[in-house]
Amino acid sequence: MDVLSHPNVALKQTAEPVDPGNDSDLKDLCRRMAQAMYEAPGIGLAAPQLGILKRVIVYDLTEDNSGAVALCNPEIVEASDEVEIDDEGCLSLPGITVPVERPSRVACEALTLAGRKVRIEADGLHARLLQHEIDHLDGVLMIDRATPDERRAALRRYVEAQLVGAKPGQTSI
Ligand code: ZN
Repeated sequence: MDVLSHPNVALKQTAEPVDPGNDSDLKDLCRRMAQAMYEAPGIGLAAPQLGILKRVIVYDLTEDNSGAVALCNPEIVEASDEVEIDDEGCLSLPGITVPVERPSRVACEALTLAGRKVRIEADGLHARLLQHEIDHLDGVLMIDRATPDERRAALRRYVEAQLVGAKPGQTSI
């Protein structure tokens, strides 16, 4: 499945909660999402990026693609006061990275595909990724988190990247 690129109306919508116990399509959706993520390649993907408005994310932070995680209805329930600024990329904004300030540590609650409740405490890239993917479930892109100046500059770089045909997974051209 193709990953949608900004601007696409699906990327601006709020996704619907899912019920992993009673939705047999979710496993298949997660398989397709993981496939699209690895193909790109990327380290995380939210269902709205495939045009599916469900609150589901997948990610894999391992070097050898051996640690895919799928989370349903993920929610940030705690965030540190301490923040960090780092460059982010997004499969829906091929060709660019944008500096985004986010809490350095978060706690996330979610359901697994089996319907089990999990709590994940994350820092570093893991914390940033969870916040970035959960933002997608609320129609928020990384450029929406950037300062107005950074956003303008990023959108200019994005237009240039599109002109030369940047593909999802490319963060620089
Ligand atoms: Zn993204």
